Amino acid sequence: MISLADYHMHTPLCGHATGTPQEYVKAAMKIGLKEMGFSDHAPMVHKRMPGITMDFHQLPGYQNMIQDVQKRFASRINIKIALEADFVPGYEAKTKQMIESFPYDYIIGSVHFIDDWAFDDPDPAIREYWKIYNVNDVYRKYYTLLRQSAKTGLFNIIGHCDLPKKFGARATVNLTDEIRSTAKVFKECGVAIEINTAGLRKLVAEIYPAPDCLKIYYQLGVPLTFGSDAHDPQDVGKDFDKALDLAKSAGYTEYLIFKQRKVERKIKL
Ligand code: ZN
Ligand code: FE
Ligand code: FE
Ligand code: ZN
Repeated sequence: MISLADYHMHTPLCGHATGTPQEYVKAAMKIGLKEMGFSDHAPMVHKRMPGITMDFHQLPGYQNMIQDVQKRFASRINIKIALEADFVPGYEAKTKQMIESFPYDYIIGSVHFIDDWAFDDPDPAIREYWKIYNVNDVYRKYYTLLRQSAKTGLFNIIGHCDLPKKFGARATVNLTDEIRSTAKVFKECGVAIEINTAGLRKLVAEIYPAPDCLKIYYQLGVPLTFGSDAHDPQDVGKDFDKALDLAKSAGYTEYLIFKQRKVERKIKL
């Protein structure tokens, strides 16, 4: 049994996940997790996106729903309440207001948009844009946005930090310097990264981030969390054996546990 904390999972409120919170919790307990955190897609701060994220009016219901399972399963598993919030440049104040309106345990900051293009959206019409964009530009813009997102100070964890590879598109230039400067900014800003196993379930069939990237984050002192990015209870803690191997082979010896936006403790791997 692998007892890591799974800090990245969703609920049906985002419009593209299935299963009740209770089912996610039961799935986590079944594989022996002692800690988990819900991080559903926070409302987009600049426009409504039904089917992609929650809406503002759903936040109280989300909080109640998670607090309910927290109480119900308190003696058996630690459950944290979090959000996966998009980084939308220019909307930092509104994002801050949203994430501070409730005592969330941590906020995962994710970049899913480049120039308002949802580059990880599997919708065929949206995937078409991969043919228009230069793949190296996509990666360079992506890493620039990651650094900007860390610098906002809004986020505790940066989500799936090589997401453009999702459908298999790889840069044709060497990105080591780009990743190293990103890792440096992450360290300076005090954000953690996650090992996100959802990549294994996508076309790329590789954990986010790739092994060579993860080594750079480790070398520059960026702390770590784990997430399955489950959108279905059956994916909770999925492939955490591989995630653990990856973390260790990059050099990591511990990961972070958060409470009310602060590191609560570090756990040895
Ligand atoms: Zn999602
Ligand atoms: Fe995401
Ligand atoms: Fe997610
Ligand atoms: Zn995600």
